[in-house]
Amino acid sequence: MHTPFCATICPYCAFYVHTGSASEMRVFVDALLQEWERVSRDYPVEAETLYLGGGTPSLLPLDAFRRLAEALLPWEAREATLEANPRTVTPEKASAWRELGVGRVSLGVQSLDSAVLRTLGRRHTPEDVKRAFGTLRDAGFTNINVDLLFAVPGQSRASWEETLGGAMALGPEHVSAYELTYEEDTPFFEARAAGIWREDENRSIEMYRTAWRLLEEAGYRQYEISNYARPDWASLHNQGYWKGDDYLGLGPGACSTVGLRRWQNRRHTEKYIAALSAGQDPPREQEPLSEELRQRERLLLGLRTSSGIPAAWIAGNSEAAGALTRQGLAELSEGTFRLTPEGRLLADGIAGLFL
Ligand code: SF4
Repeated sequence: MHTPFCATICPYCAFYVHTGSASEMRVFVDALLQEWERVSRDYPVEAETLYLGGGTPSLLPLDAFRRLAEALLPWEAREATLEANPRTVTPEKASAWRELGVGRVSLGVQSLDSAVLRTLGRRHTPEDVKRAFGTLRDAGFTNINVDLLFAVPGQSRASWEETLGGAMALGPEHVSAYELTYEEDTPFFEARAAGIWREDENRSIEMYRTAWRLLEEAGYRQYEISNYARPDWASLHNQGYWKGDDYLGLGPGACSTVGLRRWQNRRHTEKYIAALSAGQDPPREQEPLSEELRQRERLLLGLRTSSGIPAAWIAGNSEAAGALTRQGLAELSEGTFRLTPEGRLLADGIAGLFL
């Protein structure tokens, strides 16, 4: 589920997001519930996992969130995750989220260095993060992810190490460590195009290796190129996505894939609300899929994970697989081909060898 509202818009963000008042959010939730009614009539399944993302769904007023959760969580989902911005976490909200069936919170920390947070245009402080994390624990959350970003302009290696150390000191069950990317149509993209900021591939690789080393030493296992978890705390939702399972997306900009059908809702909140209020589907774009294309996606995503892919998928290219194994970039065991942490750095290029 995609909620497009954020308190402010971060200059690196390419998601479909905008600001909005509490009453606009309530109207949006009405539309989202209508979309859910239509989609669940067409696809009457009990989803195993639910991901309330955005945007900043934790910004929703509690009454609106309650209506949403009661409609989307009528059964015991195996995993229900809510994305939260540290500044939006209050004791009242955290208790209500828990009581309404949210079992996992993904906290948008990004950095524990005030200067890096300022560069990212984030308004929260390292103190906000600590307070929010404690509030979530007090409310009974035993499954918390912290989202971190590296290779931010001006971020030093020492700053990254301190952020990793501070994040681990909080003791989350899961850590996501993403490399900053310069997405088109963002102020960051323009700053790079104007030569104000430069990407430094060597620095990014070094920071990726630092994250891998420090997190593994602390007992977190990398199960996808950007995701680490303590044993038994890997995200079920993420894993389903990487395995190529079907999914339904709700909200403007959300994408759904069911069998060989894929569609994406247009990125336009007003049109989304107008269509659903008029008893119609939101404006959508359809993307034709084939079994071959879905299989290619499974291979691409699978190579980014520690589960790897069935060796049978690349049986026609054993020479390339052998060369990668000899270079220490891949392993082949018990019918599974998987990239090593170093190999995962090159996952997209390696996938090209097998497609
Ligand atoms: S809070 Fe997250 S979703 Fe919202 S603008 Fe910033 S990066 Fe994008």
